[in-house]
This record gives sequence, C-alpha cells and structure tokens, in this order.
Amino acid sequence: MERPDPDDARHLRRTRRTVEATPDLEHPERVRVDGRELLNFCSNDYLGLRTHPALLEAAHESMQQHGFGAGAAHLVSGHCLEHQALELELAAFVHRERALLFSSGYMANLGVLSALSSRHDLIVADRLNHASLLDGARLAGARLRRYPHGDTAGAARILAAHPGTALIVTDGVFSMDGDVAPVRELAALATQHGARLMVDDAHGLGVLGATGGGTVEQAGLAPQAVPILIGTLGKALGSFGAFVAGDAELIETLIQRARTYIYTTALPPAIAAATRAALRLVQHEPWRRERLQAHVQRFRAGAAALGLPLSPSMSPIQPLIVGASIRALALSESLIGHGFLISAIRPPTVPQGSARLRVTLSAAHSEAQVDALLEALGSAFARATPA
Ligand SMILES: *Cc1c(COP(=O)(O)O)cnc(C)c1O
Repeated sequence: MERPDPDDARHLRRTRRTVEATPDLEHPERVRVDGRELLNFCSNDYLGLRTHPALLEAAHESMQQHGFGAGAAHLVSGHCLEHQALELELAAFVHRERALLFSSGYMANLGVLSALSSRHDLIVADRLNHASLLDGARLAGARLRRYPHGDTAGAARILAAHPGTALIVTDGVFSMDGDVAPVRELAALATQHGARLMVDDAHGLGVLGATGGGTVEQAGLAPQAVPILIGTLGKALGSFGAFVAGDAELIETLIQRARTYIYTTALPPAIAAATRAALRLVQHEPWRRERLQAHVQRFRAGAAALGLPLSPSMSPIQPLIVGASIRALALSESLIGHGFLISAIRPPTVPQGSARLRVTLSAAHSEAQVDALLEALGSAFARATPA
C-alpha cells in the first residue's frame, strides 16, 4: 500500500513543465507546452533577447571558429578569445577594473563567498537573499547572521555586535518579491563598519538604471561603493552564465581561490559570443528597458484597479501573494487553461504562508498581451475561493 507523500498532501511537490518549442523566434514570449501555445509570463527574459537573431548569429559564427565545447577549464586550455573579450566588455559595462566569468550565478555565489570568507569571518545577509548566497555562506563555514528583509538597522545591530571582518551580502532586486535592496544605506553601513558590500544583481542588470547598469546605477552609487558585484547572464541578457566584477585584486584572488571557477569546464565560447551580442543590445537599445518599465506601470495600474494583491515592486517581477499553496496552484492551473503560463511559487522557496503567482514582465510582451493577462487574472481571482 502506498503511503501518501507529505509534499503532495501539502501541495508542495515540485514538478516541471516541458517547453516543446518557441514556435516563432520573433516572439520569445510565446511558448508551446503540451501542444498548446501559451504566453509566458514567468520567464526572466526581461528584454526579450533570448531568441534575438544577433545572439543566434554570434553563437553560430563563434562555432565556426572555436567549435562547441571549450574543452577544458579556464586555467587549463579552456579560456578562449570570446571569454576574454566578454570579461573586458562586462567590466567596462559595470565600470569595474575587471570581471570574471562563471558558469552560472549559483556557482559564482558559492565560489565568491567560499573564497572570500572563512569560519572566522562574518557574513551579514538579508533574510530573503537567493538560495545560492545562503549556500555560499554555508560552504564558506562563515558565521552567518541574517537580518529581517530590507532592514538596514537590523544589519547595523549585527555588525555592531560582531566586530571583525564582515561581508554584507544582498540581492539587488529580490528574486521572488521584485523589490530593490536599500543599497545606498547598506553601502554607508559598510563604510561605517569597515565591511565589504556584495550585491547579487541577477535581476537588476540590464533592467534597472538609465544604461542598464542595474541596482547600483539606479541608486546613483559609485562603483567602489559595491566592491563585489555579481551579475547573471541567463536573465535580462537572454544567454547563460554569470560574472563577478570588482577591482583587479578581487578578481586575482578569485582566480586563485574560487573552487567553482577553478575546477569546472569553461562555458562554450559560443555562449560568450552570444552574450557579447546581447550586451551590445542592452547598451544600444534602451527602448527595451523603457518598454518594460511602461509594462510594469500598466500592469500595476490595471492590477490595482482589479483589486489584485500587488506587492511593492517597481521591477518586472510582480508577485501576487495569495497565501496558501493550494490556492496559488489552482490560480496557476486556471491561468494556464486560459493560455497564460505563470508559475505558482510555494514554500520553501518563499516563506510559509506566502505562496504566490510570480508574474514577470518582458519587453517582448505587447501592451495587448499585458491587458489580456490582467483580464485573465481578474476573472481567475474572482472565480477562486478566498484564502
Ligand atoms: C537566478 C539567480 C541566481 C542564479 O543564477 P543562475 O545563473 O541561474 O545560476 C543567483 N542569484 C540570484 C539573486 C538569482 O535570482
């Protein structure tokens, strides 16, 4: 006899949906799932670059030069011209001395935190930081103290109580809530306590700031105020991978010590080439950011008029917090039935009792699609039983 699985009973079992295709590459927001075309409102392709011909052509051209796989780790023989060029361009883009490529944001965070902290050091972290930052702190064996979400005064109390080497670590844009970290206040706090500030701007880079420089640019901070910056390439840049940017000494330390950099195969050069093309689009097509920001305003105005449970987010991440996991799942299923792909995010990814529909907007969406989504959300919430 089968015993009921507790994850099933609590509506927490994680499942995957297979995206069968993106039938029209001019429309990255339209995906085919279970034979049906759905409008994707839960991807991180904020600028609509993941299918852009410039990326595909750059990858193709690079494959003619380098083949597909890098063939080795960066420190052996895998560091190709495309990687080198991308690192230089990323460093220039975020106004840092150097940048170092990692195979993913998850690996970058593990590598950086474990290379820069040891068990005598303090890591002061926002409670809602991305899982990879938490895991990095654990891997480092550092003393980890977490402050309530966005609470700079809480961070200050921790620093005051623990003199010594400290690293303050925060998401730039919080991945499940969409709100922006108080980076100005955290930078001031870091200066005051002689601590270093590390910002993981996975969701801000390319999206926020006049030139797409991210959370740090939007806050009007000098680059030196955030000595350790993490960016990912799989979100707004529509590609894959991640980087760390900072001064030359930081990057040299990471090359010597970051184990997730040293002991892994370099990204395929074609990915670096495609990312370079994406970076050019981020810089030369500000209309993508403007269009995205207009969608955010449009969505928020429409959702407010419908009485939907909006969160205080001005980023393209617009969670609708509904509370119970079963309710989030039912809403997600209902929306999929109406042609809108939106995932239900449940604990432990988000705190207990805060299951949500995590809507994300993209410059690839049209105004009409945003309006259609609002209409579908309005009727799905009206049909759903209250929490
Ligand atoms: C997505 C994300 C990561 C992980 O990046 P990957 O390149 O997908 O591994 C790290 N940090 C934050 C804040 C993220 O949102």
